[in-house]
Amino acid sequence: MTANQENVGILHTAKLNLEQTAFRLKMPDRMLNRLLEPKEKIELTLNPTLTDGRTIQVKAFIVKHRDSIGPAKGGIRMSSSVTMDDVQGLSMEMTWKTSLIGVPFGGGKSGIQFDPSSINAQDKETIIRSFTRGAMKHIGPEIYVPAPDMGTNETDMGHIRDCLAYSWGQSITNGCYVTGKPIILGGIVGRKEATGRGVAYTVLAACKKLGIDIKQVRVAVQGFGNVGSVAAAELATFGAKLVAVSDVTGGIINKDGIDIKQLFKHFKENGSLVSYPSANQCTNEEVLTCDCDILVPAATQSVITSDIAVKTKAKIVAEGANSPTLPDADEILAKKNVFIIPDILCNAGGVFVSYLEYTQETQREQMTLEQVNKRLNDRMNAKFEQVFDSSQGKKLTMRQAAMDIAVNRVVEATNALGALP
Ligand code: NAD
Repeated sequence: MTANQENVGILHTAKLNLEQTAFRLKMPDRMLNRLLEPKEKIELTLNPTLTDGRTIQVKAFIVKHRDSIGPAKGGIRMSSSVTMDDVQGLSMEMTWKTSLIGVPFGGGKSGIQFDPSSINAQDKETIIRSFTRGAMKHIGPEIYVPAPDMGTNETDMGHIRDCLAYSWGQSITNGCYVTGKPIILGGIVGRKEATGRGVAYTVLAACKKLGIDIKQVRVAVQGFGNVGSVAAAELATFGAKLVAVSDVTGGIINKDGIDIKQLFKHFKENGSLVSYPSANQCTNEEVLTCDCDILVPAATQSVITSDIAVKTKAKIVAEGANSPTLPDADEILAKKNVFIIPDILCNAGGVFVSYLEYTQETQREQMTLEQVNKRLNDRMNAKFEQVFDSSQGKKLTMRQAAMDIAVNRVVEATNALGALP
């Protein structure tokens, strides 16, 4: 797939999903038109000077889709191919995700158009600080609270927090300005692993509902970053067998199973997944279509095209990534009776634990890892149950049921706020 197709896909998919939901909910056009557009779109031009002396130009985007239920919440994506449209589509998804998982936030997202793997750590910090200075008036506990997403991590969130505090000449412990920070800076234990762990919890819940023994399942995971690597490790602890995994450089496959601990060790020592010796190399497409029971797309958007959907053998697709399935592919998978755990449910563990970080910081409390994981597990299971029951009762797909619940809450909140005179 070309980068262009990916970019068209994400906003298009988000709008189409909303339009179909609006139709099912018999939503008035004026409400649909309101929800189709974001409240605010900001484009920044950054001019950071890198360690080699070059001053470069970098585009960055912030979109706040809705804040009816609370301040905009959503990660910062750093990638050479991220566009304003991607960020708009992702911010809309965040509105539904925060609503569905039941946290008092709205939807937002940021993008920094630069490939983080092409620069050293100091230059990345410079770009992150440059973004923060430009974005400063759009960030705050009651405005927009960023977090890590593809290409950014907890180190970057620490730099954002420092840049905000430095610029204002004060400590910013009066509220939560950014989540996914290092624990020493007010971050919460278990946030880094929360999204991948939440993915695994929903897979386990789906297996129980469908009468599948997790110890007998073969799993394929696309993406070996924050979400994919943790989901793979967590599923392995439940007894599932990892048979294929990939990252942007390619994939590896072994039908007899890939030892996740050995793989982590190899990845840490060599910085490469594809050179892992106890498996065969393969393409990303082969990972998506391999002989497996559960497929976890946990890399990027629009990877499950109609071609892939026709070929995929998985019984369950657990959407670790945001918007990995194109609308045509979604229909094909539904016809094949593939059970999809939709992104706004499957990967909502990250934003749920971000909410715990937000409340912990606001109340100056400290939670233990056991408390965080228990609350994450309870919430993921409760929401899975709610979406599953609704899908069964109303004869909807899991995505349709999740969207109906999420959008309905946002409509209710928007109506409860009333209209400006
Ligand atoms: P990451 O940057 O930590 O890892 C991304 C992984 O995907 C890397 O292994 C990378 O090599 C791989 N990848 C990138 N492009 C690829 C491609 N075209 N083909 C195959 N592999 C590719 O990012 P992450 O935080 O793990 O995020 C992954 C997905 O999960 C994204 O869609 C993100 O929006 C979503 N997500 C992340 C979080 C979070 O808390 N980090 C929360 C919710 C959703």
